Amino acid sequence: MRLSETPRMDFIASADRAPPCPGAYALWLRLAAPLAVRAGANFGALGAGDYLYCGSANGPGGLRARLARHMRKDRRAHWHVDQLTAEGAVIGAFIVEGGSECALNAALSDLPAPLPGFGSSDCPRCVSHLRYFPRLARLPYDWENARKAAKFIPPPPQMEGD
Ligand SMILES: [Zn+2]
Repeated sequence: MRLSETPRMDFIASADRAPPCPGAYALWLRLAAPLAVRAGANFGALGAGDYLYCGSANGPGGLRARLARHMRKDRRAHWHVDQLTAEGAVIGAFIVEGGSECALNAALSDLPAPLPGFGSSDCPRCVSHLRYFPRLARLPYDWENARKAAKFIPPPPQMEGD
């Protein structure tokens, strides 16, 4: 790969499609109801809706193992994002083999960061690794392309009273 080449982005709807290699991901999450969350000393309430959480997976099993964990219910809380995956639904993930979570997060800088410090307590660069993803917001071009290449259409949000 040439150094100037943009890392390839893929979209996956299930963890078994992710490679067992190190890399970065943006987890696409959906809350059906508001949720009180905590990030270190900061408390906040997240509204119902979609969120993108940027993380990296450099441990054994790489992206596949980490995303499988995020997509499973019933587990001990370890990361800030576990508060969302325990209550909400994981819709899928954008993944970049060998990528950086901060680069993914920077690509989403147009989206609001609802709670400072969320997922970024050991990151010197980012205010938060969690972004609110409004329903009609557009993702960056390569993100949209990855979603389309995977032929993935997000499920419509469930309305209150469904
Ligand atoms: Zn960061």
